[in-house]
Amino acid sequence: MDLGFGEAPAHFESPSQIARVLTEGWVAMRMFCPGCGADSLEAFANNRDVADFHCPACAEEYELKSQKGRFGPRVVDGAYAAMLRRMASSNNPNLLLMTYDMARLAVTNLMVVPRHFFVPAVIEARKPLALTARRAGWQGCNILLCAIPASGKIHLVRDGVLAPRDEVLGQWRRTLFLRDERPDARGWLLEVMRCVELIGAPAFTLADVYAFEPRLAALYPDNRNVRPKIRQQLQVLRDHGWLEFEGKGRYRLAAAD
Ligand SMILES: [Zn+2]
Repeated sequence: MDLGFGEAPAHFESPSQIARVLTEGWVAMRMFCPGCGADSLEAFANNRDVADFHCPACAEEYELKSQKGRFGPRVVDGAYAAMLRRMASSNNPNLLLMTYDMARLAVTNLMVVPRHFFVPAVIEARKPLALTARRAGWQGCNILLCAIPASGKIHLVRDGVLAPRDEVLGQWRRTLFLRDERPDARGWLLEVMRCVELIGAPAFTLADVYAFEPRLAALYPDNRNVRPKIRQQLQVLRDHGWLEFEGKGRYRLAAAD
């Protein structure tokens, strides 16, 4: 996969137009499907509201967001109500986040967040526009990258270095089971995944996860049985091969295949 954009087009005026043409052109020319490994993605013919690309082999859809600098903890997205609706639909697109270097005309970072990581907890409503605004009352949203588990941020390019395709596909497969979970059950699983990742070690104990009980209790104030709920999530994550039980309250993160 060549990270270069090639020649910048001369017939566009604004830098943002040029960037859009180059980044979208690059995805259509160079990018493989992180879902199935097919060699290329296709741009949707006309500019649709949500998705920009799809895979002709597996029909997975992708939305591309690109910018010059690094992405912070929040990514500005479109209308809040539309985002909640699309999260509930089966063709909610996966999110591609690209950063690029205009001096070198090349991709610097590229990450994909599979759509099964989108739950209401990672969407933040922004303040509705003031009544004096042209679109008074319109409400946008942010995607909280900081609230998405590391397992849901699959790097294809990091600081100009390509990740092997097999590794990307392995990481994608590793969490695919989340698609079969109901949205509310998925929210719990994702929170427990984040807690496990925050422990910061491949081997850990049940007590390490219980240390996050106050955090989970605050997120789910109606749940009075946080510890049993934690154990249940760990079991689901074990059943799907995301982690392994080693007995006596000891766990280990499974290696990606
Ligand atoms: Zn595909």
